[in-house]
Amino acid sequence: MIKKPCDKCNRMLEFPDSHAGRRVECPDCGDINVLPEIAPVAAKDRAEAQGLPPDHGPEKEVMVLAPANWRAHPFLTIFTLGLATLFLWFRNLGNRLYITNKRSILRTGFFSKSTTEVLHDHVRNVQVDQSFLNRLFDVGTIGISSSGQDGIEIVAHSVPRPMEVKKTIDLYRPL
Ligand SMILES: [Zn+2]
Repeated sequence: MIKKPCDKCNRMLEFPDSHAGRRVECPDCGDINVLPEIAPVAAKDRAEAQGLPPDHGPEKEVMVLAPANWRAHPFLTIFTLGLATLFLWFRNLGNRLYITNKRSILRTGFFSKSTTEVLHDHVRNVQVDQSFLNRLFDVGTIGISSSGQDGIEIVAHSVPRPMEVKKTIDLYRPL
C-alpha cells in the first residue's frame, strides 16, 4: 500500500503498490497527485554477503598479495638449487598487489617505486593467465583492464591464488 498526503487538502491518499508512480485523483478535492515510486529493496552488497568489507563505507584492505616466486617458477628453482628464487625474490622485493573494497593497487619496485591503480567501478575485465604448471601451484598472471578515460591496465605477475583475486574483484565491480 502506498500512502501519501494530498498535495492540496492533505487528506491521506491510499493506493495499492501497483499504482506506484501514477497520477491519481484525490477523492476529496479532486487534485491530481503523483504517487511516489516504490524504492527497490536494497540488494545486499555482494561482497558483504560473502563476509568481506562492504562496497560502501570507508576504504578497507581486502587482500594483499606478494609475488609467489618459487611457485611461479618451480623448475627454475629446482634447476638452480634455489638461486633463481633468491634472484626473483630480490627483483620482486616490494612488489605488492593490494585489493581494497574500492580499488586494485599494484606497487612495483623497491628502489624506484611505481604505483598503478584501477577503481573497481571502472573495471571492464579481469583476466587470469595460468599455464598447467601455474594451476598446479595456484599462481598466475592477473590483468585488470579499466574502462576509465585512460584505459589503465594492471598486469601483476606471479600472483598467488589468482582465481580468488579475480572472484574478489568481481564482487566489487559492476557486472
Ligand atoms: Zn485532496
